[in-house]
Amino acid sequence: MGKTKIRINYSKCGNATGGIDPRQCSRCLYICEPAVFIRHPALKVKEENPYDPQYWQVTPVWLSLCTRCLKCVKACPQNAIAITW
Ligand code: SF4
Ligand code: SF4
Repeated sequence: MGKTKIRINYSKCGNATGGIDPRQCSRCLYICEPAVFIRHPALKVKEENPYDPQYWQVTPVWLSLCTRCLKCVKACPQNAIAITW
């Protein structure tokens, strides 16, 4: 299987940019059986304290585990996930 690319649109998912707070959603994390995503504090936020826990994001990390089932894409209420290969 070739390389899988997963992109998250952070203007739609991520409360630092006015989108949804991923901690209130996290459907992609729950539905993904191989656990490709992680949820973590956003590190590049332009705030005085970049570790402010109110700014969180979801990142696809374990791309090689993705089975391309597209369940996360269908489950995302923000249409924020794009997967190509
Ligand atoms: S396509 Fe399937 S395996 Fe891949 S990240 Fe989404 S839910 Fe997980
Ligand atoms: S399902 Fe979509 S909106 Fe919800 S946390 Fe995942 S990427 Fe964000």
